[in-house]
Amino acid sequence: MKFEVTILGSSSATPVFNRNPSAQLLNCNEKFYLIDCGEGTQQQLTKYNLKAARIDYIFISHLHGDHYFGLIGLLSSLHLNGRVKPMQIFGPKPLLEILEIQFKYSDTTLRYPLEFFPVEADESRQIFENQDLIVKTVVLNHRIPTTGFIFQQKNRQRKLIKEKTDDIPMVYYTALKKGMDVELPTGEILKSEDYTTPADLPRSYAYCSDTKFDERYFETIKGCDTLYHEATFMHDLLDRANETHHTTALQAGEIAKINGIRKLLIGHFSSRYKTLQMLLEEAQSAFDNTDLAVEGRTFQL
Ligand SMILES: [Zn+2]
Ligand SMILES: [Zn+2]
Repeated sequence: MKFEVTILGSSSATPVFNRNPSAQLLNCNEKFYLIDCGEGTQQQLTKYNLKAARIDYIFISHLHGDHYFGLIGLLSSLHLNGRVKPMQIFGPKPLLEILEIQFKYSDTTLRYPLEFFPVEADESRQIFENQDLIVKTVVLNHRIPTTGFIFQQKNRQRKLIKEKTDDIPMVYYTALKKGMDVELPTGEILKSEDYTTPADLPRSYAYCSDTKFDERYFETIKGCDTLYHEATFMHDLLDRANETHHTTALQAGEIAKINGIRKLLIGHFSSRYKTLQMLLEEAQSAFDNTDLAVEGRTFQL
């Protein structure tokens, strides 16, 4: 089952030097989840050949513009392109009011249902579930109410051994993949373990932007396979990071290490950094398996 994320924006605050504000596209089993939607997200989707029409779920972390100023444009384009299937949006409660006022004064009645689910930033809770994954919030410490999101695959199915199952009617595949033994009309019993191999372990992806270093949210992200964490500043600007409720690259590395993360992705870089190698090296000094979440890169989760 596909579980990967493509980075559409890595910049904090403003678009600069070919870096766009925050947005990521998660593909889980060919269903598409947009995480934040900074200005220019539509252009980024086009640039990387990703189809906006395939997005069915949008998660907005907070109401600073660099995380949602692209949303009204994206929703409007989908409307103009004739979308009819619903769009589910998860985000801070006032976001609905913001969208509605923009639709009101442009005299737009969307052709498709917009289903809005307000997200509270008071405690971590599950906000979404379908057959592939569940989504939980992470309560972050930022200047305004902000949540991160954990995308957690559900228990996966055992895998059929193709050479052995070719002669078995497909109607039995589902049961075998679920680990159930099957009785054929002839009375023959097919044991699941003879025809399948164990399922891969379910994986999880945590998205944390924006926040200052705060142990209170560590419990929620502990043990996640991949963590995206903001790293707006180098550690020499720790005071500035604390003041603006952001994290340094060194702190992001420490957070990954403390919480038993397998792989760390850093992003949301301040426009003051023309190149990013220093930020990467600083995070790696605390946690080696770190990568830059920059535009156009896709990471298997
Ligand atoms: Zn931001
Ligand atoms: Zn912010």
